[in-house]
Amino acid sequence: MKFLSGCSIIKYTDYVKGKVNVMKLTYLGTAAAEGFPAVFCNCKYCIEARKLGGKNIRTRSQALINDDLLIDLPADTYMHFLQNGIEGDKIKYLLITHSHGDHLYAGELHMRQSPYSHDERSEKLEIYASRGAYDKITKTGFPKSVSLSAIGAYESVSLGKYTVTALPARHMAGDFANIYIIKGDKTLLYAHDTGFFYDEVFDFIEKQGIVFDMISLDCTNVDIHIPDSGTHMGFPNIERLIARLTDIGAINSDTKKIVNHFSHNGGPLHAFLEERASEYGCSVSYDGMSVEI
Ligand SMILES: [Zn+2]
Ligand SMILES: [Zn+2]
Ligand SMILES: [Zn+2]
Repeated sequence: MKFLSGCSIIKYTDYVKGKVNVMKLTYLGTAAAEGFPAVFCNCKYCIEARKLGGKNIRTRSQALINDDLLIDLPADTYMHFLQNGIEGDKIKYLLITHSHGDHLYAGELHMRQSPYSHDERSEKLEIYASRGAYDKITKTGFPKSVSLSAIGAYESVSLGKYTVTALPARHMAGDFANIYIIKGDKTLLYAHDTGFFYDEVFDFIEKQGIVFDMISLDCTNVDIHIPDSGTHMGFPNIERLIARLTDIGAINSDTKKIVNHFSHNGGPLHAFLEERASEYGCSVSYDGMSVEI
């Protein structure tokens, strides 16, 4: 039984007995909307990425927690499932951050019904979405095997062994875009897409006494300047964000810090990103990367 790939130091028997609690996040897509190399682009970075291949090929934003909680539903979902051996019918929960097309291709949900699918092992796919994403899915329609709820800022919901809390992203006016705290065996913050966090978000995290085992941060701009009032981040914003989260005790030297969601405009060649990210104690996501927390 393949349980925790690449985790030879944890004995399967210990895991079953609950001695070792781990949570796994797999990055399925790690680019901004246009992909990297970008779909119609001939810039020097995209040309180089096509040449180099490997970790330089980034598809649209999506992640999977363990094997049952999916985050976002881009048009690249189907290829992500094929490339990573994911059996979509097993997925129980789906969180949608916001309604931008690179995070939500609502039409895919129609495939979760007969005659397009049969014998799904999870009876329902429970979706929790930002208000804008909720409206988009409602408008597109969805089958009976899917349930849909909107989740707003600072609301929490229990999803089996997970507790998910939505925080407001600084991202998409009118959509009420979310970033998510996901608490299972460990606690992680999935913060895409967003600019620098609102003061109220820091206050909430501090008052709740939350300490993150892992944070995944928006790095769309890489080194292109964007003010903290902008709707994405780059390394300078991330440096300030890490300082602020450290200040309120929400992260510490044990917290895994990962940067993710890159635009071709920032020249996000993997080797370059790794070098830059290491200056802030961060790792760099790539398509197919699994992180055990
Ligand atoms: Zn995005
Ligand atoms: Zn390009
Ligand atoms: Zn977006």
